[in-house]
Amino acid sequence: MNTTKLGTTLLCAVLSVTSFGASNSKRVQRKPRNPGIASIVRRIDARNIERIIRQLAAFGTRNTLSEQNDPKRGIGAARDWLYAEFLKVAETSGGRMTVEKQSYEQPKAQRIPQPTIITNVVATLKGSQPQATDRIYVVSGHYDSMCNSPTDAKCDAPGANDDASGTAAVLEMARVMAPFEFDATIVFMAVAGEEQSLLGSTHFAEEAKKKNWNVDAMFTNDIVGNSLGGNGIRDRGTVRVFSEGVPSNETQAEANTRRSVGGENDSASRQLARFIKETSEAFVPSMKVMMVYRRDRYGRGGDHIPFLERGYPAVRFTEVNEDFRHQHQNVRIENGVQYGDLPQFVDFAYVANVARVNAAALATLAYAPSRPKGVSIVSRLSDDTELRWEANNEPDLAGYEIVWRETTSPVWTNSRAVGKVTTFTLKGMSKDNFFFGVRALDNDGNRSPVTFPRPMTRTPPANRSTTTSSGNP
Ligand SMILES: [Zn+2]
Repeated sequence: MNTTKLGTTLLCAVLSVTSFGASNSKRVQRKPRNPGIASIVRRIDARNIERIIRQLAAFGTRNTLSEQNDPKRGIGAARDWLYAEFLKVAETSGGRMTVEKQSYEQPKAQRIPQPTIITNVVATLKGSQPQATDRIYVVSGHYDSMCNSPTDAKCDAPGANDDASGTAAVLEMARVMAPFEFDATIVFMAVAGEEQSLLGSTHFAEEAKKKNWNVDAMFTNDIVGNSLGGNGIRDRGTVRVFSEGVPSNETQAEANTRRSVGGENDSASRQLARFIKETSEAFVPSMKVMMVYRRDRYGRGGDHIPFLERGYPAVRFTEVNEDFRHQHQNVRIENGVQYGDLPQFVDFAYVANVARVNAAALATLAYAPSRPKGVSIVSRLSDDTELRWEANNEPDLAGYEIVWRETTSPVWTNSRAVGKVTTFTLKGMSKDNFFFGVRALDNDGNRSPVTFPRPMTRTPPANRSTTTSSGNP
């Protein structure tokens, strides 16, 4: 075809079809479809977020080692206030939300000078679809705080941004989402001991592992309140989502496969980050999700890490430009500069927008079918690409979509609906030239995250780990 006479738009369309092969593919869907999700996003209120952050800062300090029984000051007061707030929220859920204080005694450790009770406040909104209720999505913020020293339990540590902002986002999401019925279960959580080395989140993740819970995704919101960086840049419209590429718990066999056919950019956590970007573009178009392809910032960590280490897909939300004068600092004025993590440096409207990005993704996850399981790509010499997967069992399943992109693209660029099948062959499309994935969708158009396939060779399963590095059987 002579493309030189075509206008730019048409030319692009033609190129996308010809270079991507399949004739009835389309660009990845970005239009909002579920009115429930749009309503959730609308109801998130910056005034509530401000109220929560100011109240948490007013407890003086929320250091994990601070007073646990003082009703006014210290982490105990914050814990009890959060518990009462979640209980109020639960009243609007028609009995589907339960709230608990998940406590354990942490023995002496590097940042724990004496045995200390650590308490997570955990609100669970049970899913209503029997086939999906065991599928769990966790969203968390940490309600503990610190000043210069993580073991100083007496100094003022308002922690308005780190991390009353994340805690407020979670509590506000719980308030807005509790009246809605989702297929899958959502856990809204405020954890303690983050500044003491991720203790509260580690306890939750370990309990989940022991009980064999199906935690299908975890979001931590940590430092999501400041829109003016120490570099002087004001950005009220972007949030970073950190995701690791190579899974923290990757096995040797999985590493061999990855070295052979790629996939270092296609962990379940990275699919989750792409999913968040897509749902944000659909439901919160005023916000830009800046995907950062690394687990966390230099020299820093967060509550997603204990989940990653146990094989649960997880990402971290953080503002784009941090101001280190307002994190982990004693409250003071030095050379005319105000230090300390004070509410005056938090942009409440920005926190509300971050909460909206979270809520759009969480609600879509909890409405949508689970991401397809057992997805494989048949590894034989062929001009076609054959994908196989296991059937979903949700009653509202509409079917599946195959997505693909060029191997250098950071996001999925094309999708094709293939119906209610468990195998599909893309004719004339080489698996060597693209990355492929499969996702499920329901009758309302809610899409799951993408599952990246593993190669299926003709070698018997017992020997698979040793045959993937050398190419063709
Ligand atoms: Zn933090």
